[in-house]
Amino acid sequence: MLKIKTENPENKEKVVVQTPAGSIADNTQPVVPVQQQPPQQQGKGMPDGLWVKCKKCEEIIYNKELEDNLKVCPKCGYYFRMKAHERIKMLADEGTFKEYDPDIMPVDILNFLSYPEKKPYADKLKSEQKKTGLNEAVVTGECELSGVKVGIGVLDFYFQGGSMGSVMGEKIARLVEKSILKKMPVVIVSASGGARMQEGILSLMQMAKTSAAIGNLSRHKLPYISVMVDPTSGGVTASFAMLGDVNIGEPGAFIGFAGPVVIEQTIRQKLPPGFQSAEFSLEHGLVDIIIPRKELKAALHRLLGYMLAKPVAKQ
Ligand SMILES: [Zn+2]
Repeated sequence: MLKIKTENPENKEKVVVQTPAGSIADNTQPVVPVQQQPPQQQGKGMPDGLWVKCKKCEEIIYNKELEDNLKVCPKCGYYFRMKAHERIKMLADEGTFKEYDPDIMPVDILNFLSYPEKKPYADKLKSEQKKTGLNEAVVTGECELSGVKVGIGVLDFYFQGGSMGSVMGEKIARLVEKSILKKMPVVIVSASGGARMQEGILSLMQMAKTSAAIGNLSRHKLPYISVMVDPTSGGVTASFAMLGDVNIGEPGAFIGFAGPVVIEQTIRQKLPPGFQSAEFSLEHGLVDIIIPRKELKAALHRLLGYMLAKPVAKQ
């Protein structure tokens, strides 16, 4: 079992996200920003969360400036993670997003207790919901993307590591089914530690379910574009994230199935530098194209134009 330690931006508590063994590297760089006030501001009544420290260049950045720059460090270009709704705001034309199935709630059907803490999964769900304001780790719906109607799904890594349980599988399947009915292409942005082990086999079944749904979309000759951001791993990589007609990676993103430590232990070989980065995946054919965050919307629009084989409005 591997654990990913992340910082909870709201209250600075350590949150331990457990993922299935091998679904993500335990030596992957921590990428969630540490929110703190600049040292000179401490104790002067400044509201918390105004400033963020960049993980890469360690510069203290004004949060508003970071948000205006689509969460890319203005000093060094480092990519901070985005919440699902931030990503939707970035891709959808203003006021066009309509959410599907926001009220499907996850259930602790196995009465799962974490190990060794023995904390119920049901409690963990409640705290994740409170922390993120989401009911589950994926937001789905439809929107217009530079005037093109699309079905859109975005995983939120802040909710239980973006892990795929029954609700995520169901919401992705419904998104695809609705998109078929409405003859819309589908765009899914993935960020996930993999299948949600707290739901056991029920989470693994979602790999088949989502893959079957994407297969059905393909039979209806509707395009599916997968965008993989940091990190995309485990059962999400092994299902819908890799099934795009075009698979896009964000620069520097971790994209892989099992983590490098698990692979090294299995094959007893040292892995090459940069292994499982988006760039490495591009070089080895796992990813079709890497697109910088600022260019993503325009690139999706262009690709959809080609794939829908009909002219789309010029931007
Ligand atoms: Zn930086």
